[in-house]
Amino acid sequence: MVNLTATLSSLITANHILHYHSILDSMGHISVRNPKNNSTYFIALQLGPAVVSGLEDIGEYLIEDSSPVNGTQGGYAERYIHSEILKKYPDINAVVHSHSEDILPYTVLGSVPLKPVYHMGGFLGDGIPNFDIESVYNDGDARDFLVNTIPLGAALADKLGVNASQPTSPLHTIALQRGHGFVAVGTSIEQVVDYAYYAASNARVQTKALLLSGATGGSVQYLNKQEMFDSKNMNSWIVFKPWKQWVREVERSGQYENRLGTPPMT
Ligand SMILES: [Zn+2]
Repeated sequence: MVNLTATLSSLITANHILHYHSILDSMGHISVRNPKNNSTYFIALQLGPAVVSGLEDIGEYLIEDSSPVNGTQGGYAERYIHSEILKKYPDINAVVHSHSEDILPYTVLGSVPLKPVYHMGGFLGDGIPNFDIESVYNDGDARDFLVNTIPLGAALADKLGVNASQPTSPLHTIALQRGHGFVAVGTSIEQVVDYAYYAASNARVQTKALLLSGATGGSVQYLNKQEMFDSKNMNSWIVFKPWKQWVREVERSGQYENRLGTPPMT
């Protein structure tokens, strides 16, 4: 039987984990598809991730158009990122949108793509897409980078591509957003937190490797396709391990409150 309280407890703690590890600052968000009704999703209201702590801090919205349901009022202007990705990819159940400073340089360096540089970044895959919102703006639109309409959210969702062998899944696990940040997608809260964390980690390692290679005249060896594929499989079965540690870290840090209790850790 689906336990909605457990899902929402995981969502609250995921906000804390992503904040604790600087994937989210006071901006950015994580959503989860309603496990009891796949036409709606849950995401925090207009709050910084560190202060999300109870049911009253979470909104429920229709995936069709991000309109609020069941008494929800207001919410994040950019929630269309989440609804359009959940709409396009039925296999995706959780989405993170982040302004990570580790990732941001790779959104504006056309000549230096973000690529898997160690095994925990293998899931990033080949040819990570970079969404340039300018390509979908109309004359007169405010150039504030916010993905705050259905068409903008749909254009970003399209960037993730379609997996030809399983069209209900995206081709990519993340998409960069030029001058803004990135989105990560997963089949569960645990997986998308893992992807967001290790995307930023891979970016930090890649940046150091590139700087060292520039200083020494060497070159960076990235994962090949087989290594990416096998490392992604490894990541999917080991995801329970970092999740358990991250839950404990935020609980014991004393910085956060989750009034729904400790989320499941198996
Ligand atoms: Zn944003």
